[in-house]
Amino acid sequence: MKLFHPEHRRALEVFYGPEQTAYSEVLELLAGKLESIVPMSARFDSEGGGISASRRLLFGQGLCRMPFASHGGLSLPFGVYCLAMELTGAADAPTAMSLGIHNTVAECVHAHGTEFQKRDVFEKLISGDRLASFALTEPSSGSDARSMRTTAKRNGSSYTISGTKTFITNAGEADVYLVFAGSEGGHSAFLVNRDAPGLSVGADIPKLGMRGSRTAEVVLDGCEVPRENLVGEEGKAFEYVKGLLNGSRVIMGSICVGIALAAYRNAVAYARERRLFDRALSDMQMTREKVANMRSGITSSRTMCLYASRLKESGADYASEAAQAKVIATETAASICDQAIQLFGGYGYTNSDVHRHWRDARLLTIGEGASEVLRLLIANKELGMAS
Ligand SMILES: Cc1cc2nc3c(=O)[nH]c(=O)nc-3n(C[C@H](O)[C@H](O)[C@H](O)COP(=O)(O)OP(=O)(O)OC[C@H]3O[C@@H](n4cnc5c(N)ncnc54)[C@H](O)[C@@H]3O)c2cc1C
Repeated sequence: MKLFHPEHRRALEVFYGPEQTAYSEVLELLAGKLESIVPMSARFDSEGGGISASRRLLFGQGLCRMPFASHGGLSLPFGVYCLAMELTGAADAPTAMSLGIHNTVAECVHAHGTEFQKRDVFEKLISGDRLASFALTEPSSGSDARSMRTTAKRNGSSYTISGTKTFITNAGEADVYLVFAGSEGGHSAFLVNRDAPGLSVGADIPKLGMRGSRTAEVVLDGCEVPRENLVGEEGKAFEYVKGLLNGSRVIMGSICVGIALAAYRNAVAYARERRLFDRALSDMQMTREKVANMRSGITSSRTMCLYASRLKESGADYASEAAQAKVIATETAASICDQAIQLFGGYGYTNSDVHRHWRDARLLTIGEGASEVLRLLIANKELGMAS
């Protein structure tokens, strides 16, 4: 199965002009590596568990380095990184999600960390030597993250963190956790090593999709971390989170474009081959309507993600466009995967390859800003109201 297609080259040409040749080469090379995990995706889904060694190897092959401009980053435009995440999503969505979250932690350290944290943590994250988790959500606070109960109390040269985080991707496998906690003067972010005394990880949380990545609770029971592990300034974590989530929303949208593309290609191949009433399914007019809608949904979602990426690259405020890209791409992907199941008929309901795409896509209208929350953000910007 080829992952890099002329439609990707064309999108690069439209958004990046003559530079597209170099970017296409990078993405084509990456797609070749990603193709090796496509045949294993169904097994990752049925066996569950975490990011296996074969997938961790991909993290070290340039994928994590792409969007960063120093300390070993490749300085590639954010839109090129988005297309790389789309290709990863098409190959195996849980790998893409795990990687997207890992890189959000890397971005936080790159943007706000000390020089020591950049050398000691960031460089090891983007080389794929260490894996990261982003620990914000709690059992009683998801969308309303500011109401978190986890606290960080300063005692001289260290902080004591206590609280419970839930739904944490890469938990149990991560070498480092970016933990958010209420501290003096607001919320703060801390790097907590996996072996920090007081940190423990619960059992894997069973879930509908994204089963090839691990999700678990992380408990911090009087977990002591040195002051040097505070990322950025005390009390500023939500300022940082706002910026980080804009980028990661575009990434989650791009992953959904990849999932939708995989489901679409699968369904179109089947519609060409399946015969009923003496004709191919693809010859039926209502099938063609589905094909046209699915195709248009993929192109418009990708275009929106690349548009938001170009705004990010230009340094403009792109919070609304990032939210729009995520709402459009994630909801469109869920609908495209649903139509793919319909095209497969009874086989769509029973063949795990097709419903896996739908199960994977379904998460992303919830995580990293649920659609309702993002619609509020978009409308509030339009109406000049505070978010
Ligand atoms: C598989 C998986 C992986 C995850 N990975 C991570 C991770 O790595 N790190 C992390 O920190 N978190 C992670 N999460 C948590 C995820 O970000 C939250 O589930 C999400 O933010 C929603 O929070 P909640 O589940 O508490 O739902 P709630 O916030 O309780 O929302 C419940 C419902 O209310 C809706 N809603 C919210 N606000 C409004 C409003 N103003 N008006 C109307 N409706 C509203 C929501 O859209 C939703 O439909 C993960 C979750 C899952 C399932």
